[in-house]
Amino acid sequence: RAKEAGRNQIQFYEAAMHARVHERTLIEAELRHALERGELSLHYQPKLSLRSGEMLGLEALLRWQHPTLGMVAPARFISVAEETGLIVPIGRWVVRAACQQNQAWQRAGLAPQRIAVNLSMRQFSDPGLVDGIIAALADSGLKPHLLELELTESLMMHNVDAAVEVLARLKKLGVALSIDDFGTGYSSLAYLRLFPVDYLKIDQSFVRDMLGDPNVAAIVRSIIALAHSLDFKVVAEGVETEAQLAYLRRYQCDEMQGYLFSRPLSADGIAGLLRQEAGLPAAVQGGEGER
Ligand code: C2E
Ligand code: MG
Ligand code: MG
Ligand code: MG
Repeated sequence: RAKEAGRNQIQFYEAAMHARVHERTLIEAELRHALERGELSLHYQPKLSLRSGEMLGLEALLRWQHPTLGMVAPARFISVAEETGLIVPIGRWVVRAACQQNQAWQRAGLAPQRIAVNLSMRQFSDPGLVDGIIAALADSGLKPHLLELELTESLMMHNVDAAVEVLARLKKLGVALSIDDFGTGYSSLAYLRLFPVDYLKIDQSFVRDMLGDPNVAAIVRSIIALAHSLDFKVVAEGVETEAQLAYLRRYQCDEMQGYLFSRPLSADGIAGLLRQEAGLPAAVQGGEGER
């Protein structure tokens, strides 16, 4: 009987493993064509000043609408894109699309926003990265200080010398730089000061847990103090409640991003928000939002 149960267990694991391999193969095959088929788009999540409540920026987040798989979340395809190298052409498209969209909002008379784009490891080590960004800025006409690049600490620590060099080249263009998901990777505090970054983003897992766990709260306060002493501004990710907002404000966090204010929205949804902020009639209502 035990043997039987064991065999069932093994079959169960094998089936689960096959399903995973199958899913990955499918995602990979479909992702190869996603760009040319126009299945990729960007949604945008606002970043607000905790002092004034003003909207200061946006983060562009990739969305993949597949005809049969439906809406595929970044968690399901970014790692595949990274492993296959597809992230390089996709990421180049993201930067261009974000720059162009930002210009389109400004042409529509909306207040200028800083727009952030996520870069993964493979993109960061692509020798064409800096030229690609120069071209995206030149072609769109976007002012460099209105583009922000989000990089994880692990990516920067992976090869500190190379990272410092690339970051310096990016900084020289005038773009803003931030460290994403701070606190989840491995950082050496000694190296942190070598990176010419402007923002540090506290990972959402800390924001989620800080009010229920005094140790996490202490970590959050320390991250804010550390960042400020290095002259970085601090952005909190994943703010979902008023209580979290109040806590972050009390400890002088600079900006927030999260469902409390807004989920990522379509470009039209953002235009609607910006019109509301400016007190203009909302020509476009709402945006589709997300679940
Ligand atoms: P990230 O850069 O840390 O982005 C924040 C993620 O948290 C987004 O998930 C966002 O929708 C989600 N989020 C925002 N506010 C809240 C909140 O209040 N509560 C909760 N629970 N979640 C919130 P998303 O859009 O699924 O993206 C996941 C990750 O995929 C991103 O994490 C980023 O690492 C990666 N990613 C997304 N777009 C791109 C891209 O264009 N290029 C690259 N290389 N990576 C991307
Ligand atoms: Mg990010
Ligand atoms: Mg993040
Ligand atoms: Mg994150």
